Amino acid sequence: MLKRLKIRLIVAMVLAAIATIVPIAIGQNLNPVVAQDAPKVTSFQSAGLQLQEVASGTYALIASTDFPPASPAAAIANGGIVIGSDSVLVIDPFQSADLAELMIATVKTLTDKPIRYVLNTHYHSDHTGGNSVFVKQEIPVLGRGVIREYIQSGKNNTNGITPPTVIVNSQTDLWLGDRQVRIERVDGHSAGTDLVAYVPDAKVLFTGDMVFNKRIPYTGDSDLRQWQGSLYRLIAVYPEAKVVPGHGDVTDVSGLQAQQAYFSWLERQALEWKAQVLTKEQVLERFAKVPDAYKDYKFKGIYSLNLESAYEQFTRSKIIPLIP
Ligand SMILES: [Zn+2]
Repeated sequence: MLKRLKIRLIVAMVLAAIATIVPIAIGQNLNPVVAQDAPKVTSFQSAGLQLQEVASGTYALIASTDFPPASPAAAIANGGIVIGSDSVLVIDPFQSADLAELMIATVKTLTDKPIRYVLNTHYHSDHTGGNSVFVKQEIPVLGRGVIREYIQSGKNNTNGITPPTVIVNSQTDLWLGDRQVRIERVDGHSAGTDLVAYVPDAKVLFTGDMVFNKRIPYTGDSDLRQWQGSLYRLIAVYPEAKVVPGHGDVTDVSGLQAQQAYFSWLERQALEWKAQVLTKEQVLERFAKVPDAYKDYKFKGIYSLNLESAYEQFTRSKIIPLIP
């Protein structure tokens, strides 16, 4: 399987390279921003993506960029591909039509089966920007809660993105022929639109942005206590799962635990700020440096946002903390 995959990947990479070289040879614009109706084939290399077979017929496209991304062509988030006996599920088609086309091209290198569903693990643009390509092909795109309303209102830079066409608000089983994928709601990252996907026969959990592996998490829409609660539950329910996070490398329960530990630490910090009666400005000034424990993490540019979120949610909160 691995050898066949390698050959297919080499063929795909050669095709992608040709697609990149040909426009250069005929002198087309090299600016990576392209017209929406003329998506070009983006290579794994320019997208900064790596295809990994996490389990049989279960793949992750892992994004390597830091944030903000070095190039508009670079995928910011991870994507997923689950191949069943008669069809395929695509998870999080990246932030652009080009990257969605790369996702489709990748599926074609892996199987002849059609894409039956697309899942948005939440509404953020780095996971939903490629939706339009699938909706145009009348492939159902699944999302949760008020995701359509958020995207239609342009919340958080989602202007112009095509919203999901099917709303899933409770645990739902998708069947790809005889392969089950369980869609479950979780909370805390994205204001009521978070979903995870679990493939029972492969024990693979796609967590979306419930997990940022070795990356500072984006907390701009968060409820950090709900997020911790959902992580506790995922750790308890899926202790043996291989975990494909929304950002960062494939991990396992240790990645869920590390995310949980980060928020516990952040909450403890915030309760100390509260005890010291610090203002938000004092916190942002005194704790601006990313602690050594997280010095190897990417996305450090959003660390101060974490301080702000923790300050707002914990020091002002009257709720008894989860972590004393
Ligand atoms: Zn994300």
